[in-house]
Amino acid sequence: MSLLLVCLFAFQDGPKLTDIVQAYDQATLGRAVPIFSTQIKKGHLKVTLDQGSIAPVQLFGQDVGVFFKGTGSFEYVSSDRVEAAVLRNNVDKATGLALESKDDGRHVSGDFRSLFLYGSFEPLPGPSDFGAPDLVSSFEKHRTDFAGDVSSVAAHRFVKQIFDMPASPYSRIELGGGKEDVVHMIDPLESHTEQLYVLRGFMGQVPGHLKNARYGISVSEVPWERNWQDFLNPPFLLTHVDLTLNAPKKGDANLEVVETLLPMDRNQRIFRFNLFSEQSDDSFKTRTTRVKHVRNAAGKELSFHHAKDQLLVDLEEPAVAGQEVKLHFAIEGDFLIRPNNDNFWQLGVAPWFPIPELNGQYMTVHCKVSVEDPFIAFAPGKTLRREKMGDFNYLETQIDKPVQFMVIHAGKYYVEEVTREGLTVRVASYGMKKKRAASQLARLAVSIIDFYEPWLGPFPFPELNVLEINAYGYGQAPPGTMFITKEAFEPLSDAVSSVFSQGANHRYAHEIAHQYWGHVIKMGGYEEQWLTESFAEYSSSLFIKYLKGDDAYRRMVQGWLARTMTAVDAASIPTANRLSGKDSIERFRNRTALVYDKGAYLLYQLHQELGDDDFLTFLRSYQGLFAWKYGTTKDVVSLLNHITKKDYTAFFETNYWGSSLTMTAP
Ligand SMILES: [Zn+2]
Repeated sequence: MSLLLVCLFAFQDGPKLTDIVQAYDQATLGRAVPIFSTQIKKGHLKVTLDQGSIAPVQLFGQDVGVFFKGTGSFEYVSSDRVEAAVLRNNVDKATGLALESKDDGRHVSGDFRSLFLYGSFEPLPGPSDFGAPDLVSSFEKHRTDFAGDVSSVAAHRFVKQIFDMPASPYSRIELGGGKEDVVHMIDPLESHTEQLYVLRGFMGQVPGHLKNARYGISVSEVPWERNWQDFLNPPFLLTHVDLTLNAPKKGDANLEVVETLLPMDRNQRIFRFNLFSEQSDDSFKTRTTRVKHVRNAAGKELSFHHAKDQLLVDLEEPAVAGQEVKLHFAIEGDFLIRPNNDNFWQLGVAPWFPIPELNGQYMTVHCKVSVEDPFIAFAPGKTLRREKMGDFNYLETQIDKPVQFMVIHAGKYYVEEVTREGLTVRVASYGMKKKRAASQLARLAVSIIDFYEPWLGPFPFPELNVLEINAYGYGQAPPGTMFITKEAFEPLSDAVSSVFSQGANHRYAHEIAHQYWGHVIKMGGYEEQWLTESFAEYSSSLFIKYLKGDDAYRRMVQGWLARTMTAVDAASIPTANRLSGKDSIERFRNRTALVYDKGAYLLYQLHQELGDDDFLTFLRSYQGLFAWKYGTTKDVVSLLNHITKKDYTAFFETNYWGSSLTMTAP
């Protein structure tokens, strides 16, 4: 047991989570001494304290780190090839840090005036006879400056460490007062990465809760004691969720959530979830999600801390690895946001109930929604009950396969249904009845599914909800659901929708393909997002080829290639979601070109190389062998090697993990 943990148990009745979080935020300083020409090394970071004063940082009387005030500089070396391009892009386009390429990697450097290091460190020079100026006010200012970091809640990681992994080398270094405020973190607790990022405030008009908030711009993020190729095991899985939502027209909504959690590799008592704490609506009004209480299976209230969209729960005793535990959450708030005051709201793919990261979302679902008339609700899965109960419309659904991205959507909708053996397609038009368009869309969905089933397998859900969103230009595909904007319902009705409906069939086929690529095969993290986007994109191109012929298919391939060429130097596919830069349109374009287009182009090359039979066997085998599991690019390569008796390792090294594009497959 760590000394710190012993100290915590000195609390009468044991400390509450909130006490410990507060203690971290109010750490005190020991006696300051002068220091000069001293180096500290952590992972790939080397910090030089040129001249200044240093003092130990103390919690419950124990030293947990140091605070330095003076002049110093840092150098960080990344020799990771996968992130070479994105690191260069982000440092050049989004930060004021210096970058130099040398034989051993890319050197990022800068300077600072204050440093707070939490974590173990090489012994620094012993106490000096010389006193140094008091650092208390400098330390306070530093803590205030870094308190806005919304990309990680430092106190939450601290709590997780002391209770569950006291011997882990978790560390966090904050460097302030230079050109950029920089955070370095080694996280063996959950993300198993070493990260370097700079903090940036939000631009333009911001809602109240984000006034002092700063988000992180990624400079480097490399695997810590693991490799890029292997699936990252989560601390725990969310294996089942029971949701009960009560949504009156006015006033707060109420949400009861019962979750079944499975601790993975180790016993643990601290569980971290993502959960909105505040959001902003269109008028920049802050909307809150409040946790009323968290209880264990015995009904005992548990201590928790909810801030910056993160919820930390203390089970008070370690849950045993491999044994499921249940938690009950009571949540309320004005979190049902109607965009532009339209007649609908959506609890979408963002964390509206407590959820772990993607690699921990593996849940079957039972969902009960009461929404005040005239709104009706939609939730994925098999419909168990749909009926009117007084002023409320009630819906009960169930998903019996493990999914991510659970959603509930409600509004003024009109429904058309088409059923085929084992499948109901439900198309809901927004605001008014669009019977003809809705029936057409339902039939189109069935014909796309008929096209996919022979080579992707049976459609994975008994029902598909296609829901019109009152906006233009996007689609999204949660399990058994498609959100699709209004041009799909209004083909050629006006100039705007005709622009957007150019690719309507393609988009529609892409979103339906996500039920396979995204749900049957899941991504465990955003590094593997091409498994959902590029595979859905390529599958949709085969439908377009079937529907409109070879020329239409070739035009899609040419489009992928052209867009890929403009973005290929910016990042590798797995790091494309980290792209940053002042030009947000360029950043968006590059990310899309890599996660959607480049990946689809690689699949096109493989298709050319393998021929129809082997390529479709590859897709079908992948869907079959990995059904309802997390996919990795590593198993894509093994499967290709197995089917073709060739070795595709180098092809993926260059084109997927690297930021190049070879024009022909091996
Ligand atoms: Zn997509």
